[in-house]
Amino acid sequence: MKSYRTLWPYFRRHWLRLVFGLAALLVVDVLQLLIPRVIKHAVDQLSSFTATPSTLAWSGLTIAGLAVAIGLFRYIWRLLILGFSRIVEEDLRGRLYSKLLTLAPAWFMTKTTGDIMARATNDIEAVRMSAGFGLVALVDSVLMGAAAVGFMMWIDPRLTLLALVPMPLISILTRRLSRIMYRRYLRVQNLFGEMTERVREYLAAIRVIQAHVREKLVAQDLDGLGRDYVQENIRLSKVSGSFYPLMLMFTNLSLAIVLYFGGRLTIFGAITPGDFVAFISYLGLLTWPMMALGWVVNLVQRGAASLDRINLILEQAPEIADPPRPESKPQVKGGLEIRHLTFSYPGRKELVLRDLSLVCPAGKITALVGRTGSGKSTLLNLVLRLFDPPAGTVFLDGVDVKNYALADLREAVGYSAQDTYIFSGALAENLAFGRPEAGEAEILAAARAAGLDEDVKLFPNGYRTFVGERGLTLSGGQKQRVALARALLLDPPLLILDDNFAAVDAGTEEEILGHLARLRAGRTTILVSHRLTSLKIADLIHVLEHGRLAESGTHDELLAQDGYYARLYRLQQVQAEYRQQLEAAEAPGA
Ligand code: ATP
Ligand code: MG
Repeated sequence: MKSYRTLWPYFRRHWLRLVFGLAALLVVDVLQLLIPRVIKHAVDQLSSFTATPSTLAWSGLTIAGLAVAIGLFRYIWRLLILGFSRIVEEDLRGRLYSKLLTLAPAWFMTKTTGDIMARATNDIEAVRMSAGFGLVALVDSVLMGAAAVGFMMWIDPRLTLLALVPMPLISILTRRLSRIMYRRYLRVQNLFGEMTERVREYLAAIRVIQAHVREKLVAQDLDGLGRDYVQENIRLSKVSGSFYPLMLMFTNLSLAIVLYFGGRLTIFGAITPGDFVAFISYLGLLTWPMMALGWVVNLVQRGAASLDRINLILEQAPEIADPPRPESKPQVKGGLEIRHLTFSYPGRKELVLRDLSLVCPAGKITALVGRTGSGKSTLLNLVLRLFDPPAGTVFLDGVDVKNYALADLREAVGYSAQDTYIFSGALAENLAFGRPEAGEAEILAAARAAGLDEDVKLFPNGYRTFVGERGLTLSGGQKQRVALARALLLDPPLLILDDNFAAVDAGTEEEILGHLARLRAGRTTILVSHRLTSLKIADLIHVLEHGRLAESGTHDELLAQDGYYARLYRLQQVQAEYRQQLEAAEAPGA
């Protein structure tokens, strides 16, 4: 029941709807309980030979009237209470999504997309069922059960007690089974999440799968998962499915008892034949609450298990949050300073950055260079607090980045990540992702500066071309330039470009960097590149090695130091010369 705390606010907010809904439900129950009374009268009149066609017609009409009223009120409670469950569903889903958007990338490293999707669909569905039909079945079974027993008591208390002899067994069984059911249902939901994730991953990797001719193996794997899922469901059904037959068995047992003892009471004249028939009718009415009880336990258990899974997300405190008293917005004049920064990813032991100290001066272009895996992207992620740096290590404008409001910090920094994401939609929308209000001219200027314009001219609909998963697929280099244009469009005080030219040829890169130097004159820019010839525009270059600062200085200074940078530069020089010679040799007429 503790799991249901999440739903309390809904109960409180919609209490009027619930009160009316439950009142309608109550009316239905009362009307249903009246039917056996009418039957009793008719039977008593029949057995005492006082029945006439007109009394029978009256009884029939009364029952017909009751039936119409029952239908009407049943419609009303369904509308109100099932409507309530839909409101809960919608709101809960909204809360779940909003919450997910505030959680840090580190949190998502511990969860799979499939698992999260399962919570947003299957689990919410289970909660809806428990908040709608579960609530109704609970109230109904208690009310109807109590009323039916009450009427039975009124007819004959001894007979009622006899009829209820099997009941304590039911309550014991219910508790036993429901505990097992909770566990099995949780396993089913977890497995569903796993299955969803596996399918999602395989579909995303369809090209890799086909290129490696792995379709059969993948199909087998999915088959296996599907089988496991069905197996777990069957294991669950073995328990949940036993509820209904068990309850029915107990009510039939009661029927046997009533038939024997009630029949004797009727023979001895302690109750009338009408009472006897009415008693059996009430016993029949008791069948539904008994079944509902089993069902309700089932629904409530599922709802609780699912709510627990949802609460795990809803109650997750964001690891990366605003400070209690944030500094005013960063102006990014003072540039970026890293002081003794040591960092390892959450849950990992290896240090990715070790006692790193460096400065990216304001108004200058600073380049980060280093072997793959040396920690460049990690450092940039820490500046934006996508992962949280230790306090007192990363400073923007001389202020610890942890002291800014997150939104202020991230608005001040234009960040173009190494691997970008293209949304399904028009190219222009993708470019304006960070600034949806940007005008066409601005978008065009950013695309030009990023060297994207020439490519777009060849697209079927220019900037309106549909790109992404369901549209035109961009080349690796085009994607990188989309990312670059996206960041340029923000025109941020601090621009960070993480290796956005890796998939672009040397000539295009040089051209883009020319635009960049012009656009960013006097403003702070940090860029990562593996192609050193392009870094001539940088005022300062830092070389990282295994998360440490190995060298830093201007291009010429670093060449003079004759370290890693100088070696790499010479190597790339030789490669470039060799390429030129090759091209010259292959040229016609050589
Ligand atoms: P490249 O030039 O290839 O982009 P990089 O210098 O940007 O390399 P990083 O991406 O910062 O390198 O990675 C540094 C180290 O941190 C690598 O060993 C990498 O495996 C590890 N790493 C990166 N991201 C994560 C993560 N989310 N969780 C755990 N380890 C990570
Ligand atoms: Mg990187």
